[in-house]
Amino acid sequence: AGVFALTLASCASSGSTSGSSDGAAASGADCNVGISMPTRSLERWINDGDQLKKLLEDAGCTVDLQYADNKTDQQISQIQNQVAGGSKILVVAAVDGKVLAPVLAEAKKQDATVIAYDRLINGTPDVDYYATFDNYKVGQLQGEFIETELDLANATGPISIEPFAGSPDDNNAKFFFSGAWDVLLPYVESGVLVVPSGQSPASNDDWASIGIQGWASDKAQSEMDNRLSSFYTGGDKVDVVLSPNDSLAIGIEASLKSAGYAPGADYPVITGQDADKANVKAILDGEQSMTVWKDTRTLGKQVFDMIQEIVAGDEVTVNDTETYDNGEKVVPSFLLDPEVVVKDDVQTKLIDSGFIKASDVGL
Ligand code: BGC
Repeated sequence: AGVFALTLASCASSGSTSGSSDGAAASGADCNVGISMPTRSLERWINDGDQLKKLLEDAGCTVDLQYADNKTDQQISQIQNQVAGGSKILVVAAVDGKVLAPVLAEAKKQDATVIAYDRLINGTPDVDYYATFDNYKVGQLQGEFIETELDLANATGPISIEPFAGSPDDNNAKFFFSGAWDVLLPYVESGVLVVPSGQSPASNDDWASIGIQGWASDKAQSEMDNRLSSFYTGGDKVDVVLSPNDSLAIGIEASLKSAGYAPGADYPVITGQDADKANVKAILDGEQSMTVWKDTRTLGKQVFDMIQEIVAGDEVTVNDTETYDNGEKVVPSFLLDPEVVVKDDVQTKLIDSGFIKASDVGL
């Protein structure tokens, strides 16, 4: 009964379409869920997996949670095993959004319902729902932060910026980049912003040329090392780094440090995303300017609600039916709101809400 009440409350508060809610709450027999997460190497995915598993198990569902070590083949075989093992609902955060069509077709033959988690799965009719944060808005918040911090609208420049983008195989990466670049490209075109390394996509469609494969911190670090040593000589300083997420930001910050940058007036503005503990600490220490916080607990709760609705045979609550075209269909989506966190917000937004502990970030 507790679970049922929770479902009703969340439908009412979301204010969006939902069917009648007179079905039964999930039972262990019906609610058999396979969760497939990309990697344990990033804090957020560990939290995502643990949170969703707990919510589902507390509601009596059977859950198989797997991590794919960022390897496509591993993810495919894990999903195959889940389907063979009786999972009727699959929750998948894809390593590579373009290669899962065949395994999902198999899953469909076993009547599984597929929810794309955080990252869209492309090129298949067999993805039923998508739950994520508004990915374009993540990038837009980063772009607008840079715009405001440097008062670009009134600046004459030239202000040097080094843009980075996420992993080319992750469907989210282009949304993050587009959101930021739609804000920043006009300033590059007008000469207020300059990109000394030349790594400046002429349009949003060219983002993958500056994508960091696998979102790897060490690859971002060596890319930044190369840019700094080749294009910032004779005392030139970089003023801004557009980093799409925290794992890239941490590598970029290590590179800056070894090139002699220290927090203070000459330290660049650097963006991020995820509120990873190491990055929150970097924000407190003045080594990172902001992070876009996506409270993964909210995403887990949203997907939990979706699963409850699926199990009950109710219409699934979504709030976007236009944005996420995967090449085969526009996938009904639920988009959550990301928000900016800066130094002053760490206590009120992250610690007071229980997202991280003060001791995690040296407070
Ligand atoms: C997620 C980000 C994450 C990145 C790297 C993206 O798909 O939306 O939150 O930082 O993957 O794991």
